[in-house]
Amino acid sequence: MTLGRLAELPVTEIKGVGPERADALANAFDITNVLDLVTHYPRRHLDQTRMATIGELRIGDQAWVWGRVVGTHVVPRRGKVKPRLEVRITDGSGQMKVTFFNQPWRQKQFPDGSEVLFFGKVDAFKGAKSMANPEVDLLGEPELGIRPVYPQSDKNRLYSKDLRTWIDSALNRAVEFVEPLPAAVLDRFDFVDRTAAFNGYHRPEDWNEISEARRRLVFDELLRIQLALVLRKRALERRSAGIAHDITGELVARFHAQLPYELTGAQRKVIAEIERDLASPHPMHRLLQGDVGAGKTVVAVSALLVAVQGGMQGALMAPTEVLAEQHAMSVRALLADFALPSEGTLLGERPLQVDLLTGRTSAADRRRILGRLDSGETDILIGTHALIEEVIAFKNLGVVVVDEQHRFGVEQRAALREKGAGDAVPDVLVMTATPIPRTAAMTVYGDLDVSVLDELPPGREPIKTVWEKVQPGELNLGELSVWAHVRDEVAAGRQVYVVCPLIEESEKLDARSAEVTYEELSEGELSEQRLALLHGRLSSAEKQQVMDLFRSGAIDVLVSTTVIEVGVDVPNATVMVILDADRFGIAQLHQLRGRVGRGAGLKSYCYLIGAGATDDAETRLAAMVDTQDGFVLAEVDLEVRGEGTIMGERQKGRNDLKLASLRRDREWVSKAREVAFELVDADPMLAAHRDLLDEIETFLDPDDREFLFKG
Ligand code: ADP
Ligand code: MG
Repeated sequence: MTLGRLAELPVTEIKGVGPERADALANAFDITNVLDLVTHYPRRHLDQTRMATIGELRIGDQAWVWGRVVGTHVVPRRGKVKPRLEVRITDGSGQMKVTFFNQPWRQKQFPDGSEVLFFGKVDAFKGAKSMANPEVDLLGEPELGIRPVYPQSDKNRLYSKDLRTWIDSALNRAVEFVEPLPAAVLDRFDFVDRTAAFNGYHRPEDWNEISEARRRLVFDELLRIQLALVLRKRALERRSAGIAHDITGELVARFHAQLPYELTGAQRKVIAEIERDLASPHPMHRLLQGDVGAGKTVVAVSALLVAVQGGMQGALMAPTEVLAEQHAMSVRALLADFALPSEGTLLGERPLQVDLLTGRTSAADRRRILGRLDSGETDILIGTHALIEEVIAFKNLGVVVVDEQHRFGVEQRAALREKGAGDAVPDVLVMTATPIPRTAAMTVYGDLDVSVLDELPPGREPIKTVWEKVQPGELNLGELSVWAHVRDEVAAGRQVYVVCPLIEESEKLDARSAEVTYEELSEGELSEQRLALLHGRLSSAEKQQVMDLFRSGAIDVLVSTTVIEVGVDVPNATVMVILDADRFGIAQLHQLRGRVGRGAGLKSYCYLIGAGATDDAETRLAAMVDTQDGFVLAEVDLEVRGEGTIMGERQKGRNDLKLASLRRDREWVSKAREVAFELVDADPMLAAHRDLLDEIETFLDPDDREFLFKG
């Protein structure tokens, strides 16, 4: 049996699954076919002999308890006391009473003699052990040995025992699975075959079988993803003609020479990697990873200038209008005095033209810019998604930089590539705003080459980070000690950011707003300082004005929302105060902190004001205090948020990781990638691996399938 064939069998083919159960499976777990069913993996395996017994449990423990039902009893409502179901269980070592309030319907779930598993806090009730409203796994008939416990859905009345039965019959029905892996790979990692893997994970005889099965299933999952990515990467390289840029021109050299600082070793190395790609006739698809403040802008501009010095155009695309505007500002500043040779002008040269196109650009400006793009007068265009979503025609687009912050999808990148002139595909450099973990990069951006800026410019002093813990919901500005320090820094000529989660007060969210904070501070703690307010609802002109004033030093304290999260560069700013810091994610906090510590020789500070209201918030804020290394924080972020958010739109449908974890299985991500390259490079169409190829096709989403297998 192949996985592809299983995917064609609807779940109703399984005995006991009628239309109603099929609906429930689809609702609860997106399970519609037999492949979905056999890849619905146990969330844990349990061995009764390895669990704490009821006799051993102590009052106050949080524990899993395994037992056999000896009786149930519904106590009806009495006055204000809710009706409750009482279930008595035993495991031979003792008895426990489990109470469910308001759920009398559950009684039929617990027939006498059936086995159940409860998770909850052990209480004492009249001297006996008890639990109230625990988490429940219905295990069904008693059975010896190791038992899989499946993710279940109370809402859809789907329990572990049902899934167990159906998966069992699915596996019986499949009998043997076709083995898609080449023998050499099986040997190299000493893998069990696929039939053993599915059986060993769903119905194991011993613990070793489970771990061998998991190893194999995890590898298969990751290999499918890596093969799809590597096939895509190689197909792109093979199919598209790129532009062989001339990298010997003098514009880039002049740009580097006039910078007020030396490039770091890492910047040099990465620029060289990019130039090698640009010079080659294959289109570049490269990811630039670098920590906040590592100096990615200079690298990006260097790449764009290679296009410009060869008489072509460059484009820089940002995820938001604010960011696009900020990029435009910094790129214009970096290239302020640059001129290009131009026939037909008096001096034989013209200024290098950087244009900004966003949703806020006026109709007249837009028309002018479109004209310049078409005629080739625009050298560098900066903008948002609008650049690709609209009908924008470049004269000869040579290099595209996408500043992506995880927000651009493959399709969007592809669309931008299509904007090249004729058949030639422009070179594409993707920048991440903050680092993402290596394994995540390999998976989410696995069709790209990767460059890493792993060195910060010299002279950066560590930013002292302090977490001032406050009670949840009681952020009273007057009680914070931070303002004294803010006043001192301002007195010393430095500048300060104060960041809030909201623009204005909200009924729904109990969090600090920039507007109220600005008012309170102006009238209270910082009445002597020059304050300004910045948020996304100001017009572009207003925002620009505020930023200009702040940059020039005419404003001491900028109270803002996360508008300033990325890209703002004011080296004289030395204090970052983040209010309700527990409301921000790690990447955001790291970006915000990256706004200070930019001036050589100036000591900078970051104050995180917030409650560690949840475990996650606690972990995030503690990590921020602990380290300033974005790559380390990225790993913590992955730990806290799980893969889902990182995989995002990139991995849809069957490509989800069901068993593999980018954290736990780091090592296997790299190995799968290695094998994928070996297989594809030895046999680009996988002609000798038909089964493997069929399988990838089964798992790909339609866009990828069309891309990889068209023609
Ligand atoms: P990011 O990687 O976060 O985009 P930027 O490109 O904004 O970083 O650079 C951060 C700051 O470091 C800017 O003020 C920039 O001028 C400065 N910078 C960049 N490269 C160097 C360098 N080689 N030496 C000193 N300062 C640098
Ligand atoms: Mg930047």
